[in-house]
Amino acid sequence: MFEEGKVSEIAPGVFVRHAVDNCTWAVLDDFVVIVDALEQAHLADEVLRHIRETTDKPVGYLVNTHWHGDHVACNIAFAAAGATVIAHESAAPDKSGKGDGKPDITFGTSLSIRGGGRAAELHHMGGTHTPGDIALFFPWAKVLGVGDLFGWGLIPLTQITDESVANLKQVMQRLLDFDAEVIVPGHGPLATPAHLQRFREYFQNLLEEVPAARRAGKSPEQIQAEMPRPDDMLDWWRFDWKHPHNVEQIARQCG
Ligand SMILES: [Zn+2]
Repeated sequence: MFEEGKVSEIAPGVFVRHAVDNCTWAVLDDFVVIVDALEQAHLADEVLRHIRETTDKPVGYLVNTHWHGDHVACNIAFAAAGATVIAHESAAPDKSGKGDGKPDITFGTSLSIRGGGRAAELHHMGGTHTPGDIALFFPWAKVLGVGDLFGWGLIPLTQITDESVANLKQVMQRLLDFDAEVIVPGHGPLATPAHLQRFREYFQNLLEEVPAARRAGKSPEQIQAEMPRPDDMLDWWRFDWKHPHNVEQIARQCG
């Protein structure tokens, strides 16, 4: 589904180093914007070398989609390479001196980074994976970076409540409203809006069917056995274990 460590230009001026932890960079007219900073600090040199191979523009900004260890490990190295670090105000530790990998800039609702005619638009989506999740849209390329808001079938919720589910559905709709052509998740293969749509529908179905089966007296194990992966989702990345995990999570939460 993807070749580990391979770099490709997925749209004009937008590059992804494909891996379990993806790293994206977009070349604006005056500088480069990096999205996410991986889980292993030693990969920073490799990513910076790849950036040098794709453009001679300087590194301008690093945007962390959320403040989890697998998205911030190269922050210090990217900052040393010239990046101003940006994160959402609720996601990030306190701002401090430039160069320590902590955010230099935080924002609340949205922020636009302009580099000549091209812009990167940052929008707070939070409250699904973490309170501070942000999405980045590169309008000229129709590419949307979604961090871990979309998790290839893994419900990005720690608790399944009426409120969190309503929020998740709303976030998925907002992501679809960007009218992007390519979706870059924080992990694994690239996705399309059709994947987001299918994910929302799949999730809705589980939330109707699993509690109904529990009310009918079935155990979580029975429900798992009787509810295999939908046929059209058999090739979804890691879905062979994520689907039963999702079913079990919902079954256990409804008692
Ligand atoms: Zn992650």
